[in-house]
Amino acid sequence: MEIFTEAQKYIVGGVNSPVRAFKSVGGEPPFIKKGKGAYIWDIDDNKYLDYIQSWGPLIFGHCDKEIEEAIIKAVKDGVSFGAPTPLEVELAKEVLELFPHLDLIRFVNSGTEATMSAIRLARGYTGKDDFIKFEGCYHGHSDALLVSAGSGAATFGHPSSPGVPADFTKHTLLAKYNDIESVKKCFENGDVGCVIIEPIAGNMSLVPAEKEFLKELREICNHYGAVLILDEVMSGFRASLRGSFDIYGVEADIVTFGKVIGGGMPVGAFAGKKEIMEKLSPVGPVYQAGTLSGNPVAMAAGLAQIKKLKSNPEIYKSLEEKATKLMQNFDEISKENGIDFQYNVMGSMFGFFFNSIKPKNFDDVNKSDTLRYAKFHNKMLNEGFYFAPSAYETGFICTPMSNKDIENTINSYKNIAKEI
Ligand SMILES: *Cc1c(COP(=O)(O)O)cnc(C)c1O
Repeated sequence: MEIFTEAQKYIVGGVNSPVRAFKSVGGEPPFIKKGKGAYIWDIDDNKYLDYIQSWGPLIFGHCDKEIEEAIIKAVKDGVSFGAPTPLEVELAKEVLELFPHLDLIRFVNSGTEATMSAIRLARGYTGKDDFIKFEGCYHGHSDALLVSAGSGAATFGHPSSPGVPADFTKHTLLAKYNDIESVKKCFENGDVGCVIIEPIAGNMSLVPAEKEFLKELREICNHYGAVLILDEVMSGFRASLRGSFDIYGVEADIVTFGKVIGGGMPVGAFAGKKEIMEKLSPVGPVYQAGTLSGNPVAMAAGLAQIKKLKSNPEIYKSLEEKATKLMQNFDEISKENGIDFQYNVMGSMFGFFFNSIKPKNFDDVNKSDTLRYAKFHNKMLNEGFYFAPSAYETGFICTPMSNKDIENTINSYKNIAKEI
């Protein structure tokens, strides 16, 4: 509490990203001093099992040996050059090798940059300004994308934000997740050049697209000659090795990456078909740049993590089993205690809702009991389990999480279920 008070004197709200302030669940955020494997410790030496894992990036947990060593090695050779390095070529190759339909990539420093640049590129390529986004999908905080975003934006009840001129969002057409009719309407009402979607929505808790819906979305884009951007900043290398591609088989024109691709360092990327990507500067006229883009330390971390994932693809099955075990048991315990509960699992990602219906879109998600979530969060935190401080976020399993860790979580939920 002391340091949080101190922090608020110097940093806006005491945090550098809003959801960290615990506003929607109450209480003070623990200040973290270290992590190891599946665990983190706060400055009072409380230990927590970490279901956030830096909001997804740390699929091998904190301080994974190989990633740590790769980072240290890169640091010793110089932390930044603003010039091309072999590491970025290697990471580009490793990523593109997984996706036969993606030819070229560009690295940036965050997911926000990746989606913002992908939209600009799609607009430059098609010459059309209108694009479709879905209610409850979050694509970072750039102006045109900050409309009915889930996650932090939803947590604070600002579907969009002051400071974003209406003129900047007039080309953003909103459709309903898993509702193809709403997409058709947008295409009929606008001059749509591009569609951006989280194929596995992870910013309104976890709501996967229905298979048929995503396929139809691809077909409609083909019909209108629109660019389909799959935002896999969260689901990429998380839902499965190749994100939604292994699960749905839908080929995007552009895919955006972040989180896991940086191994915990600030990295984003967007990759796409040659014809589209070659519109990008310096080959084409669509401008995009970054002083620290392709930073060697960040590339080394991402490379170590992606290589490790590619040589251990079997981990996804065991991560999914653990997530499923956690959710199935939460479900049973909830039922025994008269608590409405729904859940989804996609690989190492899980999401749950205190809701009587299983949400398919943002409207459904918003019917969840967020007050109950706040109670759940407070009590589980006290028991030593670090869940997201918002009902709109996804949970993450990492490889160092043991069956015993999962069982301990289940037992704690059993103990607190009556009280929530
Ligand atoms: C986290 C996230 C972003 C934004 O990434 P930042 O690195 O926070 O800017 C964009 N899209 C999705 C799907 C995300 O989950």
